[in-house]
Amino acid sequence: MQTAPVLSMPIPGHIDPVPVPRALVPRSDGRIDLLGLSKADLRMALETSQHDPKQAKLRAKQLWHWIYNRGVTDFSLMTDISKAMQPWLEQRFTISRPQVVEAQVSTDGTRKWLLRTDDGNDYEMVFIPDADRGTLCVSSQVGCTLNCRFCHTGTMRLVRNLTPGEIVGQVMLARDALGEWPSQPEGRMLTNIVMMGMGEPLYNFDNVRDGLKIVMDGDGIGLSRRRITLSTSGVVPLMARAGEEISVNLAVSLHAVTNEIRDEIVPINRKYKLEQVLQACADYPGANNARRITFEYVMLKDKNDSDADARELVRLLKKYDLPAKVNLIPFNPWPGAPYECSTPERIKAFSNIVFDSGISAPVRTPRGRDIDAACGQLKTASEKRTRAELDRLAEEKQAALG
Ligand code: SAH
Ligand code: SF4
Repeated sequence: MQTAPVLSMPIPGHIDPVPVPRALVPRSDGRIDLLGLSKADLRMALETSQHDPKQAKLRAKQLWHWIYNRGVTDFSLMTDISKAMQPWLEQRFTISRPQVVEAQVSTDGTRKWLLRTDDGNDYEMVFIPDADRGTLCVSSQVGCTLNCRFCHTGTMRLVRNLTPGEIVGQVMLARDALGEWPSQPEGRMLTNIVMMGMGEPLYNFDNVRDGLKIVMDGDGIGLSRRRITLSTSGVVPLMARAGEEISVNLAVSLHAVTNEIRDEIVPINRKYKLEQVLQACADYPGANNARRITFEYVMLKDKNDSDADARELVRLLKKYDLPAKVNLIPFNPWPGAPYECSTPERIKAFSNIVFDSGISAPVRTPRGRDIDAACGQLKTASEKRTRAELDRLAEEKQAALG
């Protein structure tokens, strides 16, 4: 299958995204995938397929319910749609799921899925069960254009934005795997979503926003925005828009308290400085003491983990008067990583200094390390294929399809 050219464009270098129009592009089998279409686009897809506007509105409502509330992918199971209409829909439309290449389970119960897009790009999603909640870690891109020095994803060569359908598709697939249809507000295993998988979500702003809007829609999956957290490395110009247009919880990958160190380990800092990031946090719409901003801080031995660093972190958070909580992340190693994790004693001492100032600073327990599912360990084989190889694979697939 092929994806629309605008959606599969590689993203060159450190640029801010330019909004692109999204057309209703049929797949190579001629059918339009309904997964990931907004309510308005779903209605438009029906109208352009010769439904009259009134009928299209009703049909779109029915389909939305079946797709996002019931998790149904087969038109013949949609009992309130007439038997005559079902094959008609089947011919024109499809309701996809990401292709699962591999599913792994960690000894601690964390689950990781390796997924593949229609055009052969691999990405990952991770489910982290806890006693009272379950968190799905969702990817926003295949790879990442930013090269944070401690992050495995940042070493991937190939990058492509995931579409809204591929973003919401991860949630659908997790619900399928957990047997959580129909959507119900109580007793779910999947209770929270973090945009902390592969990629920088704010460099794929429109698709992340549109995908999350579907996830939050009360007629479908209905996950509250308070249960969704978007993590950014600090794409300052888009942080306010994220607050206004998506209004989920914000997490910021701070990781350092000086521009010198942050320039080195989070290279986007060379463009948007620490002070600008903190100011954007202070201006983030909707942040208050009940909805704090999470500051992620990866603990790197002898790099950013001294008592002085902890005190400076507190000073900065207070200076900008931020409703903050700090999340200390023990560095998760990967082959060839240029850093080591701070010792447990150092992490504890750092945490204590921040806690003593009145700011919560729990240490994140690494989850799923044995299956490389922990923070910063996600990386797929997609980097091993060049564009030419991918084109060849697509041609072969096309030929095989006849
Ligand atoms: N791109 C976004 C979200 C994905 S990364 C961002 O950078 O915020 C999710 C979190 O894991 C980020 O805070 C990231 O900095 C952190 N992380 C990346 N590599 C890591 C590693 N090797 N060990 C621990 N945390 C890591
Ligand atoms: Fe990209 Fe986030 Fe990894 Fe940095 S930490 S390379 S922004 S995924």
